[in-house]
Amino acid sequence: MPRIALDGLDGCVRCERLQHFMQQLPPAKGRCRAEYHNAPVNGFGDLQAQVCLVGLAPGAHGANRTGRPFTGDGAGAFMYPLLREAGFSNQSEATALDDGLRLKGLYITNAVKCLPPENRPNADEFAACRPYLATELVALENLQVLIALGHGAFTSLLRLFQAQGLIKRLSDLPFTHGGAHRLSNGLWLVGCYHTSRYNVQTGRMTPELFRDFLVQIKSLLERENA
Ligand code: SF4
Repeated sequence: MPRIALDGLDGCVRCERLQHFMQQLPPAKGRCRAEYHNAPVNGFGDLQAQVCLVGLAPGAHGANRTGRPFTGDGAGAFMYPLLREAGFSNQSEATALDDGLRLKGLYITNAVKCLPPENRPNADEFAACRPYLATELVALENLQVLIALGHGAFTSLLRLFQAQGLIKRLSDLPFTHGGAHRLSNGLWLVGCYHTSRYNVQTGRMTPELFRDFLVQIKSLLERENA
C-alpha cells in the first residue's frame, strides 16, 4: 500500500525519550524483540484520498510491532471492519504489512510517528513530529476532510493550522465527537473519539458510534462533491 515519502523519517532520532522507550519495551507475551519494528511508523493508504484519519501515535504492540498504523492491535481490530463496511478499505483484517489491506479514498497516519510511554507524547514530541504531518497533508492533493482521532491528534493539527495562519485561537475550535470545523482553506477538520481498547471497553466508543461517524463523513464528502 502506498506511503508518502517523508524525508528523514527513517532513522529519525529527534525525540530521545521516545527512542529510549522503544528500545527497552518488553515484547508482548509469546513474541520476541526481533519481531518489532521499534522505529518511526509512516502513514499509508490511498494517495488520492479525500479523507485522512490522524491518530495519536503507534500502539506499543500494534503499529510499533508491525510498522503500519492501527495494524495488529485492538484499536485496528475495532476500526477496520467498520472502515470496510463504509467502503474505505477492501478487508476487515489488519494484521501485518503483507496482509493485503488496501484503503480506498482514505489515508491513515499518526500525529506522532514513534511510540510514546503511556500513549502520551509530550508537547516537544508533538512539535518535533509536526513537520512530517504537514508534509503528508500537502502531499494529499485531493484532501477535503481530516479526521482527528482523539484530543491529542486534534490539538496537534490545530497547532499546525495556527502556525500556518489558518486559525487564530485554538479555543475557537473545540474538540467534540463529530464536531466539524471548516478551515479558511476549505478543509474540514472533524473530531472523533479514539478507537482505543480502553474507550471501547468503557463504552465511550462503540461500533454504532463509529459507524454513524463514518456516515457523517461520507455525507460531508457527498455535499462537497455535489
Ligand atoms: S516522534 Fe517523530 S520527530 Fe520524534 S523521533 Fe519519532 S519520527 Fe522523529
